[in-house]
Amino acid sequence: MPSLIINEIYRTISGEGSSAGRTCTIVRLTGCNLRCTWCDTAYAYNEGRGMTVDEVLAEVQRLDGKLVLVTGGEPLAQDATPELLERLCDAGCEVFVETNGSLDIGGLDRRVVRCVDIKCPGSGQGDSLRRSNLDCLRATDEIKFILADRVDYEFARELIESGDLSSCRTIFMTPASGLLEASELAGWILADNLNVRLGLQIHKYIWPEAERGV
Ligand code: SF4
Repeated sequence: MPSLIINEIYRTISGEGSSAGRTCTIVRLTGCNLRCTWCDTAYAYNEGRGMTVDEVLAEVQRLDGKLVLVTGGEPLAQDATPELLERLCDAGCEVFVETNGSLDIGGLDRRVVRCVDIKCPGSGQGDSLRRSNLDCLRATDEIKFILADRVDYEFARELIESGDLSSCRTIFMTPASGLLEASELAGWILADNLNVRLGLQIHKYIWPEAERGV
């Protein structure tokens, strides 16, 4: 009996976060509990096929994936995802999970790098953060803000300056594609001397026409 609904599994170059530029295997799970206005993976809301955890592991190994990015959709919306993450770690993979921050990240295997995408107001989901997730952040986790405008930037800056993210070493600010220029965001970061990383979604530079699977 399949326990996961998988949208796609493929090899690519990681586009975001600290793994950006590295070869990786993407495991994209179907379904999401949010609906961000600028979502670029709406095809993962419903499309997918049932697979067991063993079948996903076999496919990752067939693709020879050492670095695995588990994403969605929202991967933590499926009950078997924690088991999948643990089994990937046991198999010797370096594992990242990308989550929208609205669901509990506390029970995941400690070997997994948790990349928490905190939604800003411009996404239409700015109140979705599960605040208790901030209490269990570790230095190895990553925070990402995707920013559509100045309001989003100030929302993110206030959260950073509150100290609530201080246990996490790596915070990215990324301009929402087509909505905010990287140069404008860079200017704001410089003016405020913020200790963040400007993150660019490099897969959109490598494959600008692609709508999925990159
Ligand atoms: S959380 Fe991610 S997958 Fe879900 S709607 Fe927002 S951008 Fe799309």
